[in-house]
Amino acid sequence: MVIDNFRNKFKDAIDILKTFNKNGYEAYFVGGCVRDYLLGEEFSDIDITTNALPEEVKKIFRKSIDTGIQHGTVTILVNGEGYEVTTFRTEDEYTNHRAPEKVEFVNNLREDLDRRDFTINAMALDSNGVLFDYHNGEKDLSSGVIRTVNNPNERFYEDALRMLRAFRFSSKLDFELEKDTLEAIKKNAELIKFVSIERIVNEFKKLLSGKGNLRSLELLLDSKLNNYIPFLEEIKIIQDFSKYLFCQSLYILSKINNISFDILKTLKLSNKEVKLIKEFDKINVDFMSEIPLELILYKHNFEDVVFVAEYFSYNNRHNIENCKLTINSFDDVDITSQEIISIIGEKPGPWIKSVVSELEHEILLNRLNNNRKDILDFLLKMRDNK
Ligand code: ATP
Ligand code: MG
Repeated sequence: MVIDNFRNKFKDAIDILKTFNKNGYEAYFVGGCVRDYLLGEEFSDIDITTNALPEEVKKIFRKSIDTGIQHGTVTILVNGEGYEVTTFRTEDEYTNHRAPEKVEFVNNLREDLDRRDFTINAMALDSNGVLFDYHNGEKDLSSGVIRTVNNPNERFYEDALRMLRAFRFSSKLDFELEKDTLEAIKKNAELIKFVSIERIVNEFKKLLSGKGNLRSLELLLDSKLNNYIPFLEEIKIIQDFSKYLFCQSLYILSKINNISFDILKTLKLSNKEVKLIKEFDKINVDFMSEIPLELILYKHNFEDVVFVAEYFSYNNRHNIENCKLTINSFDDVDITSQEIISIIGEKPGPWIKSVVSELEHEILLNRLNNNRKDILDFLLKMRDNK
């Protein structure tokens, strides 16, 4: 039964471990997939750890990508699936409380598991489904706690990002932080300053999407770790964000905590993300200015409108779905801009844009029918009234 479950969950990946073994190497499933498998949860990525060196991995598996070769990681492609394979390693040369630039390959699994962050992330499974759990990760999984592998002060001192990762896993799994682990975060919080904002944002994003995010955010604020992170230091009011996308959560956090969008810049978000957050605010302003729903929907993306409308109780999805638009773009209007120019009889200029937008508004608000004749009449009247 147990072994059947193992086969069902890891399927083809088991043969990968066996291929390593046939070639004289050790290889194990490790990290998140082992944790999620033991919890009975779905997992998407399967990470493998082995004593084969990256060059040896690449010889055995022809199709591979050098994902992080300097850290000993290659991605192998088997039956169209990618698997991250990392050579057993330790990370002794931490500088400035960050993940090390250089790693040292080692020859035993135990040492590789020792360098991992939390007990629940430091377990491995061999090709027969036998569990290697030197840090009592399984026990912590069943009691629902996040505990560092070995001394938390040392582990957070080495790589300060682990403090934020503790909250992100507590959110993902709805787990508590083990007492000494939490105490060590409170003590070392300031070290997070040394970590790049990109790594921080990556973890914060995952924290916000977890089922236990509200409790984790509470713990995070209580630990004061957020006091040393731009934007997060401004957060006082929190809520459950699990049903929101990342940019939606950031927008809500900005609004409920009165944080200026300028501060969002320090998070080094992508242009696309910044644009989306600003778009939410434009929609919000439109609702506040009591612009008719038809016009708001015409200008903005449907789901974005629903999000803003529902969050701030301007309207609900049902009503918004029922608001049918007479046109979806200027292409649907029964006239061309060329024709508008010849009717109005002026040199092309910025005026065209405002005439087009007036036409669109009239049609959307059903004050003008979308047919050539009515539109021509409307334009002639407009010209004569000038
Ligand atoms: P998820 O399924 O959410 O991605 P994960 O466990 O796979 O969870 P990753 O961030 O992808 O999390 O990391 C993979 C594994 O690498 C972890 O399970 C852990 O063993 C190890 N790890 C990652 N980051 C660190 C770190 N900063 N310090 C120590 N070990 C780490
Ligand atoms: Mg992962």
